[in-house]
Amino acid sequence: MVSRIIPVEPFDLVIFGGTGDLARRKILPGLYRRFCAGQMPDDARVIGAARGDLSDDDFRDMVGAAIEEFVPKDRRDAKTIKEFISRLHFVTVDAKGTDGWDALAKLVRKDVVQAFYFSVGPSLFGDLATRLHKHKIANAEARLVVEKPFGRDLETAKALNAVLASSFDEGQIYRIDHYLGKETVQNLMAVRFANVLFEPLWNAQYIDHVQITVAETVSVDGRGAYYDKSGAMRDMVQNHLMQLLCLTAMEPPSRFDPDAVRDEKLKVIRALDAVPVENIVRGQYGPGDDVEGYVEHSENPDTKTESFIAMKVDISNWRWKGTPFYLRTGKRLKARMSEIVITFKETPHSIFGEDAGSHANVLTIRLQPDEGMDLRVTIKEPGPGGMRLVDVPLDMTFADALGPEAEDVPDAYERLIMDVIRGNQTLFMRGDEVEAAWAWTDPIIAGWTERGDRPQSYEPGSFGPEDALMLLHRDGRRWREIRK
Ligand code: NAD
Repeated sequence: MVSRIIPVEPFDLVIFGGTGDLARRKILPGLYRRFCAGQMPDDARVIGAARGDLSDDDFRDMVGAAIEEFVPKDRRDAKTIKEFISRLHFVTVDAKGTDGWDALAKLVRKDVVQAFYFSVGPSLFGDLATRLHKHKIANAEARLVVEKPFGRDLETAKALNAVLASSFDEGQIYRIDHYLGKETVQNLMAVRFANVLFEPLWNAQYIDHVQITVAETVSVDGRGAYYDKSGAMRDMVQNHLMQLLCLTAMEPPSRFDPDAVRDEKLKVIRALDAVPVENIVRGQYGPGDDVEGYVEHSENPDTKTESFIAMKVDISNWRWKGTPFYLRTGKRLKARMSEIVITFKETPHSIFGEDAGSHANVLTIRLQPDEGMDLRVTIKEPGPGGMRLVDVPLDMTFADALGPEAEDVPDAYERLIMDVIRGNQTLFMRGDEVEAAWAWTDPIIAGWTERGDRPQSYEPGSFGPEDALMLLHRDGRRWREIRK
């Protein structure tokens, strides 16, 4: 397979919050990897902008150390790190004051692609957008990248959209959801829309149900104060799981272009039913042997925030009526695992008799670990024992199927930043999409807040609360096991 790395146009990328955790762990190491891949043209520059009195050299040292820490050893070397960090600059800027803006205006070039990455808390988005505009730093094609959380409800999301819209067009705003940058997520679209095999069966007539799981082993230790105001519903379901649901459920767009794809996702969100209380299970991890519980991490001894949620979601449209989507996400679970599982219906009649067993095809799209897909098909068990059926996997682990290059696929942040520079918004959320997602989410949260519901405690390292298992059992179904 021939690698097709196409360098992007010359650019100035300004990272507001360039000294923060996200910049150090993801954005800057990601840019280094694109540099190694030959995708950054010679005159591309990256400018860190944050509070703190750093020189260019201090910032370069900091980024060099971040690369050492976050890029695997076999993917870095001292010479390329040195070349990469020579492209870096730093400007001390106060988002809420006047410091640094004139210096930034002088440094940023007007005749190259401009991208401004807001890797700071959302309370600063408005200040940054306004000052970029006021100081005439951004040109008419400049791109703004904004991080999650995009609001905490419909009202705050609308306010954020309005403040960005007062200085920039929607076509310049890139709301990032890094799940959309994952190779497998895009492959879901390729599998659905580039093959005739699946699409005719991709509906309630042939699909029994869909499961979307994002399981984490980490706790909220260290960021309990933030997480306690958010919870799993706001932190994961409203954005990441919602996006995965949309890509699974949407109608084929007429073209693979930003608005065609986002129009179809928006229609899915608008077709989601309100979720009745009996279809929601919330959980909170308790303490375990030698590990603290959520309450110890939250700072609020009476916290009712959920670190786990499972829900059954129905979509009211012709394609999906009658096929539930079960969503599940949580912290401190048994394993770190994200996947979408499409379980097809069984054959209408088995010609092989009851002894052969009943079987359903299952398509699993794995986001982590080991990005890939797996389709279970039913065949005859080999041997002379008569017609007994067995399920076997048609495994499409990318690394196995596509060779060493598949192991070198860019991570989500790398791909998304390059899409920003190319000016491609397909994998970014549009303002109306985010608002529609909040409009669905808000009444669900309001419901349990008004009732004063307390999440159920679950054991750390488990599958979540027992009731989450019951959510499927009562429908005669089972969750796929959360496993390593
Ligand atoms: P952080 O606290 O580690 O870093 C914040 C950065 O903002 C620092 O560089 C700081 O100097 C800068 N800053 C703060 N106030 C400023 C001001 N007034 N003017 C200029 N710069 C200022 O935060 P983080 O973890 O890097 O997160 C940044 C954003 O990304 C947040 O919105 C967060 O929700 C989001 N996010 C973070 C992660 C993550 O893994 N860290 C993941 C997803 C989204």
